[in-house]
Amino acid sequence: MTTPRDVLTRGLVDHGYWIATGAPGIFGRTARFNAILEGFDALVIDVGREAGAERVEFPPVMDREILRRAGFMESFPELCGSIHGYRAAKGSHLDLIDRVEAGGDWTEYLEQLPLTLSPAACYPLYPSCTGRLPAGGRLFDLSTFAFRAEPSDDPARLQAFRQHENVRLGAPEDVRAWRDAWSGRGLEMLGALGLDARLELATDPFFGRGGRLLAANQLAEELKFEVVVPITSESSPTALCSFNYHEDKFARAFDITTADGGLAHSACIGFGLERVVLALLETHGFDLTVWPARVREAVGL
Ligand code: ZN
Repeated sequence: MTTPRDVLTRGLVDHGYWIATGAPGIFGRTARFNAILEGFDALVIDVGREAGAERVEFPPVMDREILRRAGFMESFPELCGSIHGYRAAKGSHLDLIDRVEAGGDWTEYLEQLPLTLSPAACYPLYPSCTGRLPAGGRLFDLSTFAFRAEPSDDPARLQAFRQHENVRLGAPEDVRAWRDAWSGRGLEMLGALGLDARLELATDPFFGRGGRLLAANQLAEELKFEVVVPITSESSPTALCSFNYHEDKFARAFDITTADGGLAHSACIGFGLERVVLALLETHGFDLTVWPARVREAVGL
């Protein structure tokens, strides 16, 4: 049976937006696709620039210790993209080649490197902020290719995707107010592109039984909101951006204090850039010439 997911994936490939690689959730992007993505990305960059955000970029690979300190493996162990390399101490190179050529499992010859793929743009930022923040805190604008090990046939759930985040660190009341202001702005930005967007309370996909408690707390404290838009399903729309208030979680993990010496709070807002493009293509069609003029203009097409 052909599903709406298959139809959208096929459409993206047939209309020259994506290149299939054979691996689930891993696609090549054409210039045609990236033109829309970068047009929307520029709108987010403008908001950060006007707010005086420091624009930074980390590579999509980071120190494994950051995940340990941030408690990532407790909450999202299945999403981690671990990196491994061959080490002679694990066995001879000839044995490794034999195993590879025989079609066998060669992982016993590999060793885990002290690196992982970045599951979100903001993780590498926190350890760089250790110490005392300036008065008024700090605001960052950052993007990266993120990786999450969750193979899916849903084109809106990629394993490798571009994420654009803004991160605010500072006094609790400033951080919460900033997060709340962004929730409204995010909804407005996506609504202005003709998308059927709505704001919802949300939870992270925490792992296991302990995770259900974390999710319940997240809802009760209203720590996470998302703007969702139907892409491949009307009944379970896709989150295009999320607004996350961490309280003092990252400040505790990475020793970040406010100017007056109290524990800082942090929040991040993040757009899944491919999802925004998919929502636009699903809503307005694969033929860009029939898109509403104001939408084309907004994303610079
Ligand atoms: Zn983040």
